[in-house]
Amino acid sequence: MNPAQSPDPDAPRDLVGIGIGPANLSLAALADPLGGLDTVFYDQRPTFGWHPGLLIDGATLQVPFLADLVSLTDPTSPWTFLNYLRSRERLFPFYFAERFHIQRAEYDAYCRWVCDNLPGLHFGHQVDAVRWNPERDLFEVDFTQLDTDGEAEALGRTHTRNVVLGIGTEPYVPDPLKPLVEAPGVPVLHAADYLDHRAALLAAEHVTVVGIGQSGAEIFLDLLRNKPAGREKLHWLGRTEAFTPMEYSKLGLEQFTPDHTRYFHALPEPTRDRIVDGQWQLHKGIDAATIAAVHDELYRRTLHGGWPDAVLTPGVRVRTAGRVATTKIELHLEHGRQDSRSRLTTDAVVLATGYRERPLDRILAGLDPYMRRDNQERPRIDEDHRLVLDPSVTGTVYVQNAETHTHGVGAPDLGLAPWRSALILNSLTGGEAYALPARTAFTTFGLTQRRHVPPPREAPALTPLVDDRR
Ligand SMILES: Cc1cc2nc3c(=O)[nH]c(=O)nc-3n(C[C@H](O)[C@H](O)[C@H](O)COP(=O)(O)OP(=O)(O)OC[C@H]3O[C@@H](n4cnc5c(N)ncnc54)[C@H](O)[C@@H]3O)c2cc1C
Repeated sequence: MNPAQSPDPDAPRDLVGIGIGPANLSLAALADPLGGLDTVFYDQRPTFGWHPGLLIDGATLQVPFLADLVSLTDPTSPWTFLNYLRSRERLFPFYFAERFHIQRAEYDAYCRWVCDNLPGLHFGHQVDAVRWNPERDLFEVDFTQLDTDGEAEALGRTHTRNVVLGIGTEPYVPDPLKPLVEAPGVPVLHAADYLDHRAALLAAEHVTVVGIGQSGAEIFLDLLRNKPAGREKLHWLGRTEAFTPMEYSKLGLEQFTPDHTRYFHALPEPTRDRIVDGQWQLHKGIDAATIAAVHDELYRRTLHGGWPDAVLTPGVRVRTAGRVATTKIELHLEHGRQDSRSRLTTDAVVLATGYRERPLDRILAGLDPYMRRDNQERPRIDEDHRLVLDPSVTGTVYVQNAETHTHGVGAPDLGLAPWRSALILNSLTGGEAYALPARTAFTTFGLTQRRHVPPPREAPALTPLVDDRR
């Protein structure tokens, strides 16, 4: 129900969630069976969609299907991926398919099923501001209700004791290329919009894909597979010095465990920053199967002699770019190791240049006087994902997937989302709504390892639970 239509629109909620991506959807799904928690979640989009521009046919998750919204915390939840398959009568086909890494489109469909069946999710609601009201000891959350075209329809306000931000990431475009993306004409687009422009890209004479991470690889592969042999006319380039595989060794992946997160959080700020810079291969490389698929497709095109008309060059930076006679783009390139420069004329550019955390400061400007910041002016976030605020603020703001600087590169990882949701729910309910294991990795990070300790029972940050089944 929309709070604006509720009998008492001023009645405060226990928790308002901002954003309904996998992070907050996991929290909503794990909160649901607890009962008694008065929650509402808002998302600015008209419906759920998980990176819709990149649901390329055949592209898979980088994590096993067990990294669904709930299983790694509560495999008995009604919101598991397996239960989704059961509801669709697809368990047997899935069983025989023997797929640990499901297609991205299937993960999107699973999340949509959760959204269709879980109460308290409101799409078409853009949250504009969160403020603290010291008179009422409550947060005020201002939102704009949007129609399906994204036009403002009405303004609203919800009061709440607690807030959880799950506003995710936004596409990143390097400065020299920004003017090109914004101008009409020759297609220059971010990878996030790939599927909307796929037909135009396949029709273009020559296409350049900038960025040699996972999205760049998937887009290059899709274009390659669909261009005529010998007339591919594709360029694929990026700054990294090689087409580097993503770290996927079993012990290496233990850096995506709660044990590692806890170890990381306790380190000094400059050490944490150094570690994050050095861990790029955990999330910025290309998965080995996609590298193999690219090579297989290139090789297939040599079977009858000749080489595909495709140029793959790592170690290249785009210095500047501009339009040529309005119908073409000229990229000015620089090769770092060779210390050489050249120009490339192309008919379309796809920028697979990654994503950045959406800055919290826009929505949280009203909380600025209460926020505690680190040496680089980033918000301090405690181990339980709470923003560190002035003690006069009795409510809590939880943060999901904006805490790489405090919790490490696992912040966006789908496998860690249910654990983080459980930590937040335990903190909210002041107990152990979800029991979590003390240990999650074989690796001992540091000379001593801090294990997970269940929270001491403390005053809950909300009204008493009606149905505390655990
Ligand atoms: C193409 C791609 C593939 C990925 N694949 C994997 C993978 O296989 N495995 C893995 O572990 N990780 C993967 N990731 C990383 C990560 O899991 C995803 O980015 C994931 O979507 C993060 O979830 P989220 O809920 O934090 O953010 P998002 O999914 O970005 O959702 C945030 C939501 O907040 C909403 N929002 C933002 N601002 C407001 C506002 N002011 N008011 C209301 N709503 C707002 C947005 O509309 C959006 O719906 C991938 C990332 C990308 C980009």
